[in-house]
Amino acid sequence: MLTEITPRCHETILKGLYAITIPTPFPVGDVFAYLALGSDAAPLTLIDCGVRTDEARAALQAGLEACGVTFRDIERVVISHHHTDHLGFAAEIAAESGAEICAHRLCALWLEQPEPTRRAFDAYLQPIFREGGVPEDVIKGIEFISAYLGSFVQPTRVTRTLAEGDQLELLSRTWQVYHTKGHAGDLICLYQPEARVLLSSDHLLRDISSNPLIEPPESLDQPRPQRLLDYLDQLQRIAQLDIRIAYPGHGAPVTDVPQLVQTRLAMHVQRAERLRALCAEHPRTLYELVLAMFPRLRQPEMFLAISEVLGHLDLLVRDGKVMPELCNGVAIWHAT
Ligand SMILES: [Zn+2]
Repeated sequence: MLTEITPRCHETILKGLYAITIPTPFPVGDVFAYLALGSDAAPLTLIDCGVRTDEARAALQAGLEACGVTFRDIERVVISHHHTDHLGFAAEIAAESGAEICAHRLCALWLEQPEPTRRAFDAYLQPIFREGGVPEDVIKGIEFISAYLGSFVQPTRVTRTLAEGDQLELLSRTWQVYHTKGHAGDLICLYQPEARVLLSSDHLLRDISSNPLIEPPESLDQPRPQRLLDYLDQLQRIAQLDIRIAYPGHGAPVTDVPQLVQTRLAMHVQRAERLRALCAEHPRTLYELVLAMFPRLRQPEMFLAISEVLGHLDLLVRDGKVMPELCNGVAIWHAT
């Protein structure tokens, strides 16, 4: 239930920081919540709080209990980004303890008005899917999953917004907030420069690559955010930090951040190149490219795959390697 990050880390890196393993019903598997014990200088803080299921609540409460903590003791919750597996018990904890709820400004809408925000998100995707030649039954499937994910979320008020450059007291140390948009536009990492520790959430995962998802812009008169390009920029920025260890939202800690970043960057270049080759073979729609790239794709992964392929097309367009041609409202992608 509770993993002290490692005894060594506990003693020499950051005393009082715990990772609590929380199950999710999603293919990604377990997610971590990080508990930072309180001190004279810092409130008792939970960074992320799982997905709101009974199994997850039991795991979170058992993990907290092993540290002598209950929901009532939590003074502050930091939400790293708006995905369902990270914000689960924010509302419940805020109601029980009156904890401060901290998140990026763009995450606040998802916490405060989850259902209208989710519906607006779904509506924004419709023309993108249609232009991408995505069949109606596949679109319906994606909407179904969106509603399913939304069903886990309870609204709560964000009492403090966090932005790039902000500082946060945790474990008697000052942490810096990095706004690392990409996987999500509202994703923040927390960095402690003396301990050289990064809480990387889903920005940097050792065992799986983070998927930059399609998202609406902040205001609808703005162009669609190019989240994969954002992600690659932010990966390179994080690689410049002096990081001894990064604790992610899922999976094992990362001890060689620059090496992992290089691996991820190379993977994206390779996938984009493969996509360009497919367009050169013969022009295709976004959906046809998704099926060609991921032939064994299952429905729950469809939105992730569409997001990734569109992200790689953004990259190829930026580099002048492909371009779309609209044909009866559907974009056909050609290699240039
Ligand atoms: Zn996520």
